[in-house]
Amino acid sequence: MGSLKEDWKETGKDLGGAFKQLGKSIVKSGATVVDKANDWAERDDAKEAARKEAEVMKAVEEREANKVTCPHCNAEIENAEAFCPKCGGKLS
Ligand SMILES: [Zn+2]
Repeated sequence: MGSLKEDWKETGKDLGGAFKQLGKSIVKSGATVVDKANDWAERDDAKEAARKEAEVMKAVEEREANKVTCPHCNAEIENAEAFCPKCGGKLS
C-alpha cells in the first residue's frame, strides 16, 4: 500500500520540477515585462515632466505678465490691483 504514496511522491517531485521550470520561465518573461514596463513608465514620466515643465513655464510667464513695478516705491507686485500693497500708491 506504500506504492501509491511513493507514486504521489514521484508525481509531486515531477510536478515540483515542472513548476520550478515554469517558475523560472515566468520569472524570466516577468523580468522582460518589468523592463518594458519601466521603459514605458520612464517615457511617460518624461512626457509628464515635460508637460509639467511647460505648465510651470506658462504659469511663470503669466505671473510675469501680471507683475508690475510700483511707480512710487519700485516694489514688484504680482497680480496687482489698483493700488500698491506696499506703499498704497496708485498704480498707473
Ligand atoms: Zn509702491
